[in-house]
Amino acid sequence: MKTISYVVKNNLCTGCGTCAGVCPTDAIYMKNNAKFGLYSPEINEDECTHCGLCFRCCPGVAVDMKKLNSFVFNEQPKNNLLGNFLYSYVGHSNDNFIRLNSSSGGLITQLLLFALENGVIDGALVVRMKKDSPLEPEPFIARTKEEILSASQSKYCPVPLNVALCEIIKQKGKIAVVGLPCHIHGIRLAELAINGLKEKIVFHIGLLCSHTVSFSGTVFLLRKFGIDPVDVKSIKYRDKGWPGSMLIELKNGKKLRKEFVRSWNAYWNVFSCFFFTPHRCILCPDQSNEFSDISLGDAWLPEFKQPNLGESVIITRSKESEILLDKLNSVGSLSFKSISPNKVLESQNFSIDFKKKKISGRFYLSRLFGMKVPYVNPFFFRKRSTLFNAFLTYFSVWSSSNKFLLYFMQYIPLSLFRIYFGLFKISSLRTIEGEY
Ligand SMILES: Cc1cc2nc3c(=O)[nH]c(=O)nc-3n(C[C@H](O)[C@H](O)[C@H](O)COP(=O)(O)OP(=O)(O)OC[C@H]3O[C@@H](n4cnc5c(N)ncnc54)[C@H](O)[C@@H]3O)c2cc1C
Repeated sequence: MKTISYVVKNNLCTGCGTCAGVCPTDAIYMKNNAKFGLYSPEINEDECTHCGLCFRCCPGVAVDMKKLNSFVFNEQPKNNLLGNFLYSYVGHSNDNFIRLNSSSGGLITQLLLFALENGVIDGALVVRMKKDSPLEPEPFIARTKEEILSASQSKYCPVPLNVALCEIIKQKGKIAVVGLPCHIHGIRLAELAINGLKEKIVFHIGLLCSHTVSFSGTVFLLRKFGIDPVDVKSIKYRDKGWPGSMLIELKNGKKLRKEFVRSWNAYWNVFSCFFFTPHRCILCPDQSNEFSDISLGDAWLPEFKQPNLGESVIITRSKESEILLDKLNSVGSLSFKSISPNKVLESQNFSIDFKKKKISGRFYLSRLFGMKVPYVNPFFFRKRSTLFNAFLTYFSVWSSSNKFLLYFMQYIPLSLFRIYFGLFKISSLRTIEGEY
């Protein structure tokens, strides 16, 4: 029988924490594996009853998109790039404090606050950075306004969010969850496998996601900026408005700010070309978080690029999310307007092209080199035109774990990473409208 160890051994683990969260005997915990800069599960064999629940709920080994679409929406999507959805919008929170302290439009924070204050939910599964270990995330169930505010902003590091599923399973109350596609896949699989869980998780908020970054990525950047990671008191990846900047506070009181994107010296230049991307991330076929009730991301469109004031693209997938948006609108907490699904695709053109179309080249290369790939169904295989992109991606992923190349990379200016990203752009066709 295949187990979670099979997933880890074959590099298929997303580090999402679902296995640890659903384990009925608490035999699994997530360990920060310093060698790879990722979380992976450790099993206490004495406690394990070999019930197999962890493997059934693992989104690393399989994401049967067809089955999940039937489970969540009762139908298969008509749009293969965005999945099942109702409407698409662009919008932002009308509370400027929230908007400026969030990643894009502050809508997630605003939605959660409204849902909590109006009894729609009793708590929300979110993530903040740990106070006593500032480079590590802390998933938790926020039950107050202050706690929800403390979780604002994107964290570009591994997050074992779903370890907190054990709390949701054991306790009473209605919960909202906020997560990346891998988190939501794990949660939906757990809902399929565990009686009563679907009724407790009343709202799934999904972040759009191109890929995440290992801890080694943050450590690489800190060293590049001349900072010893042990001297860091706190880190924020997207602080102060939109698109925001990295704020590093040191124990000696010094503060450093580094631009996020759109400049030759932006730190995302390193990550945009998939250095420090976990291996399983590049085999993920979901950019728009297709099994959420509502998906949100940055409105990367020229007409919405106002400095400091973020806008979010919004994709609603359930009636409940439409009702919640309308209620927030009627009390003046947010502003939003309809945009076409093609505008959403345009705002995500590189990452949706990478995840939905270029994925076939990466599956092909993985199999060619004898690596295991996750079971994903349905799968759209387009080998031609995707191989150059796949080679570049594998080179980036592989070189970020090669000690010699890492040493060399420390001396490469951030601007050169941006030039390297140009190769990815050349290898990537612009997103094609609608159907795929
Ligand atoms: C790794 C990553 C990749 C992303 N890729 C894209 C992309 O390709 N395109 C795009 O448009 N947008 C992407 N986003 C989403 C974008 O950065 C914003 O999170 C989104 O626009 C919501 O903004 P907001 O202002 O409404 O959120 P906020 O109000 O700032 O709230 C953020 C919420 O996200 C949760 N959260 C933050 N980081 C994580 C994490 N790593 N794992 C789980 N939950 C988390 C927090 O708990 C919080 O509740 C990505 C985010 C992350 C973390």
